[in-house]
Amino acid sequence: MKTPVTVLGLGAMGTALARAFLAADHPTTVWNRTPGRSPELDTLGATRATTAAEAIAASPLVVVCLLVDATVRSTLDGLDLTGKTVANLTNGTPAQARDTATWAAKAGAAYLDGGIMAVPAMIGGPAAFIFYSGAPDAFERHQADLAAMARPEYVGSDPGLAALHDIALLSAMYGMFGGAQHALALAGSEKVSAVRFTEDFLLPWLTAMLGSLPRIAKDLDEGPEPGAAGSNLGMQAAAYDNLIDTSVGQGVDPALLAPMGELLRKAVAAGHSDEDLAALIPLLRAGG
Ligand code: NDP
Repeated sequence: MKTPVTVLGLGAMGTALARAFLAADHPTTVWNRTPGRSPELDTLGATRATTAAEAIAASPLVVVCLLVDATVRSTLDGLDLTGKTVANLTNGTPAQARDTATWAAKAGAAYLDGGIMAVPAMIGGPAAFIFYSGAPDAFERHQADLAAMARPEYVGSDPGLAALHDIALLSAMYGMFGGAQHALALAGSEKVSAVRFTEDFLLPWLTAMLGSLPRIAKDLDEGPEPGAAGSNLGMQAAAYDNLIDTSVGQGVDPALLAPMGELLRKAVAAGHSDEDLAALIPLLRAGG
């Protein structure tokens, strides 16, 4: 028999996680604060617990997917977690993950913190993955069980590391979408078709530009190759004013773009004119 699992929280994501366990033939116990949520899980064979305590008692692996960290603590506080592995997939910060790990250890549980890199429709499919950090033995014990939801990616025993990876990827996503939304606002200011602009130009352009990321990463890990900057920061800082001026001229708020311009100017002032984009990252790490 496959490992019995419990899923606490049947929002959009928790429901998808429970469905994935059921599809992989895990005996699955579910609990949600508001009773009766996601009734399709009953038809699929889930056991519905009436309290969180009853749900936790049913399985060695307890997957938690609630709204925010405070919800996790208010739901689990005072319950018996002795001998359980808690995989908390609720979105949170590295500091929250470390606090919750300390709290879970006191409550007798092995703790894994997780960061879900997927939307509910992707759960159980090939593109979804979940970062895990925390108790290495608990990860090893349950890796195959966790794989029912999404490809598990263990990133270290410091419980904060999964949230760090998750938040870093979300930061990249929001930065990218912010830039894309600004581009669409600019194109739209002259009634350029959003569909044609996106399919013919925006997507291919972003895809081509993303190809430079591995080189930026290599520069960071190994130091920049002398004279390798094809697009030096001095040139980029000088051209950046055109982005701001065009936005203002077209009636588009430059607020999303302005901070990058300031960072470019700061890099040039600090003597990095001949380097390329990797030189911005130490400035960000120094707090800007
Ligand atoms: P939903 O808003 O759909 O569901 C929220 C869940 O939290 C519900 O089960 C709700 O219960 C429960 N909840 C809220 N407040 C409390 C409380 N005070 N006590 C007990 N339970 C409570 O959110 P999702 O399912 O989409 O998201 C869940 C987690 O997954 C979040 O941390 C989110 O950031 C993360 N996530 C979500 C993704 C997505 O695309 N949906 C993607 C990646 C991560 P009730 O039904 O009673 O309100």
